[in-house]
Formats: sequence, C-alpha cells, structure tokens
Amino acid sequence: MNYRSTRDTSNTPAYVSSAEAIKKGLAPDGGLYMPEMLPRISSLDVATLRPMSYAQRAAYILSMFLTDYDKDALLRDCEAAYSEEKFKGGAAPIVKIDDSINSLELWHGPTCAFKDMALQIMPRLLSRALTMTGEDKKARILVATSGDTGKAALEGYRDVEGVDITVFYPVDGVSRMQKMQMATQEGGNVNVCAVYGNFDDAQNGVKAIFSDKALAEKALEDGMFFSSANSINWGRLAPQIVYYISAYCDLIENGTIVDGEEINVCVPTGNFGNIFAAYIARCMGLPLAKLICASNSNCVLTDFIKTGTYDRTREFFKTMSPSMDILISSNLERLLYVIGGASLTSELMGELKENGKYTLPTSLHNTICEVFEGYYLTEEETSEVIRDTFEKNGYLADTHTAVGLGCARKYMKESGDTKVTVLASTASPYKFAADVAEAIGHKITSDEPAVILETLSKATGTEIPSPLLRTLTLPVRFTRTVDPSDMPAVAIEK
Ligand SMILES: *Cc1c(COP(=O)(O)O)cnc(C)c1O
Repeated sequence: MNYRSTRDTSNTPAYVSSAEAIKKGLAPDGGLYMPEMLPRISSLDVATLRPMSYAQRAAYILSMFLTDYDKDALLRDCEAAYSEEKFKGGAAPIVKIDDSINSLELWHGPTCAFKDMALQIMPRLLSRALTMTGEDKKARILVATSGDTGKAALEGYRDVEGVDITVFYPVDGVSRMQKMQMATQEGGNVNVCAVYGNFDDAQNGVKAIFSDKALAEKALEDGMFFSSANSINWGRLAPQIVYYISAYCDLIENGTIVDGEEINVCVPTGNFGNIFAAYIARCMGLPLAKLICASNSNCVLTDFIKTGTYDRTREFFKTMSPSMDILISSNLERLLYVIGGASLTSELMGELKENGKYTLPTSLHNTICEVFEGYYLTEEETSEVIRDTFEKNGYLADTHTAVGLGCARKYMKESGDTKVTVLASTASPYKFAADVAEAIGHKITSDEPAVILETLSKATGTEIPSPLLRTLTLPVRFTRTVDPSDMPAVAIEK
C-alpha cells in the first residue's frame, strides 16, 4: 500500500511506500501521510483475531497497512514491543467501570501513559524502514511533547541502532513527575531540552525545523536527517488503530457484546491522534457508532464539532490534564483530508496558518456531526468525576481519563444513547498523582514526587507502578531551558 500527502493537490499525487512515509514523518509539502485507501476489516477478520494475543493482533492489523514489511518480521517486532515484560498485565486490558462504560487501559507500558502503545513499536518500524530504503544516514528524531510523548519516545528510541532522539518540552507545561521522568532519561543516544512557552510553541518550533531546507542540508552534511515521532508520523498512528479493534474482540470474548453490535468510543483528546485512530478503525468497518471527543477547558475541538469553525485564537489554559492542553490539533488535518480531499485540506490549513481559524463547508460539518460528538469538562467537573468514580465505582481514574469519563456520561445523559462505551484510559493515576489525590480529598502539602506517590497509594490502597518508583532513584541528566528561537541550534547539535 502506498502513502500520499494530505496537501498534495496534483492529479497524480507523489506516492511513497510505507517505509518511506515512516522514515520521513512529515510530507515535503507540510502535509501528513495517509494511505491511498483504507483496508476493510470484516467479521471474518474479527473471528480470526479473537483467540490471538495482543502482539499477534497488532501484527495482523499492521500488515494490512505496512504491505512492504515482511510479515514474520512484523510479528517478531510486535512480540518484542508488547511483551509481558514491557506491559505488565497485558498491553490493553479492559476494566468495567459501570454497566455501560469500559475502560480500555492503555497505560501498562514502561512510562505509564498510552503513548507507549505506539512508541514501543514505532522505533522498530523505523529501524526496518531505514534498512529497507538503503539509508546510510542517521535518523535524528525530533519530538515536541506536552509531557507523555517525550518520555515514551525516549524510552522507545533509547539505544536503537541508526537513530538518536532530541525531545523539546514546554518548561511550565508538564507535571513535576513528567519533568523528572525526562530529565533522568537513560541511554547513549538521547537529548532533552526545555523550551520557554507552551506546547504549541514547542510544536511550532519543531514543525519549523522540519520545513527549514537550509537546516536540513546542514544536517545532511553532518551525516543525519530529521524525522518525527509525534503523532503526525503514520508509524505512530497505525499501532493505535490496533487497540480499538483488539478492544472490540475482547468485549465479545468477555460477553459484554455480541459480534456485529455497535459500540461508542470516548477519547480524551489533544492532538487528535488517538481519536483519529478510532475513526480509521470505524472507516475500516469496525462497528463503532459515535466517537466522543473529550476536551478540558481548552475546548477548541468541542467548539469545532458543534459549530464547524475551528478557532485557535483564544485564551490558553493550563489544566490538570496537561497532555490535552493543545490549541492546534495536528491530526485533525487527516480527518479533513478523508472527508474533504487534498485541495480543501490545503486551503483550510492555509487559512489556519494565516488567520488562526477556518470554517468548514456545511455539508462537511454535517458529515463530521454524524460520527463525532464533542464535549468538555471544567477543572471542578474533572475533580468531581475522579472523586465520584472512586467512591461509587471503586475505579481510580487519572485526570485525562476522568475528562473522558465525564464527557461520556454527559453525552449519554443528553442523548439517551445506552450503547456499550469504550473509554480510552490514557494514563496511570500515578502520573498525575497530586491532582488525583486532592480530588479524592487528600490535601497534598509536599511537592516531593516520592511523598505524593506514597500519599495516593496509602489513600487508595493501590500500588505505585514500578517504572515510576524507579524514576525517583535516578540521577538528573538534563537541565537546560532555551527560547523557541534557539531550537534549531539544539536540533543540529552533534
Ligand atoms: C497524548 C495524551 C492525550 C491526547 O492524545 P492525542 O492523541 O494527542 O489526542 C491524552 N491523554 C494522555 C495522558 C496523553 O498522554
């Protein structure tokens, strides 16, 4: 299967192989790579997938998209990426919260956030892509992170052959624990740098580096080229499609639904990557009815889904779900491309760049409304959901998952829709332990991560995940903070 840019408006688009798309990350015209067509998943496929392990399911589904990859090699990579050692207790287990809502826990990997689901496999896909395309230069991965991506990418890429990685994070935009996880990162091929500003500043900085031709030439002279691990890379997105299909199989296996039954999916959303993966699964034929897009007070997507106007020119809030504090959701571009084609996408992205906003034609807005529902939660509502759910359902949700849970409940209440819902649970409550502990009524007086984790554990009788415990004992390696204008210089450091 071949891939093309979302902004390629020519009659004969420039197609590249999946290895090439994964190697490049972003298309040369600034667009995102999309498969030329979407494979179908039938109930026959579902029957085949049901008895399989997560790794086998992942290899089966990935091979539908990555047709130039060797199938056995994909299976070996998936088995290494989703091993019991990396994902204790299984890669994407389902936990019932109440009669209708099932939490799809995507955070049992090495960094305790859902980004591990893609970032444990993607470096392996890239490494193979480099060999398959005869690449002799080193790939330098550049990442802008709102917290969780950075750590997950560092863990995924550390000491991978032919690759090194530089991570930029907004200095005040991540939690203390997230900062500590990144600053203590181990590995011989890793670099971490804080940036003054918010996530969008960091992300725009990285995007500018990717489209800077002079800098790219300089990098080549030094024997490397830039590549991305952000969810703009198809190699990040494809592995995320897997867990929605896998969850559907598990819900049949555990008797919650029958084969063919429609379910809803709710996703705490930032960059629109996770929910877009659910949309792809839906396009492939998985019986997903509504996709509920959950936001915090940075509700640019809620407004977009309700009104058809995307307007990033608004106040930016720092919330207790920082991985969703985003005003430009990059992967929305892929949705625009699927429903409206490349010329419209190219036009709207131009407007967004120039005016900070755009409005969809009415017919396309209607298309979006048939599938997507947009809701958001305030900070108080989020705390309330955490407390309520812990008290009534005995389920401890992190701040991001809580936003999703609250939005799913709002939607069900407003619409009367009682379909089984899969809630993407995106982080361990211990990653945002201070806010979670406070929400359930335990005042946090220390800002020492060790004390905070202990407090939450004692208060809830739950265990601190071992990777977080380990972080507390590691020495700090990275302490630098730079202006966004200095990012290109950091990107090209030897
Ligand atoms: C990244 C992240 C999100 C947002 O996911 P997108 O794919 O960017 O929409 C939500 N919750 C957590 C914990 C995350 O790390």
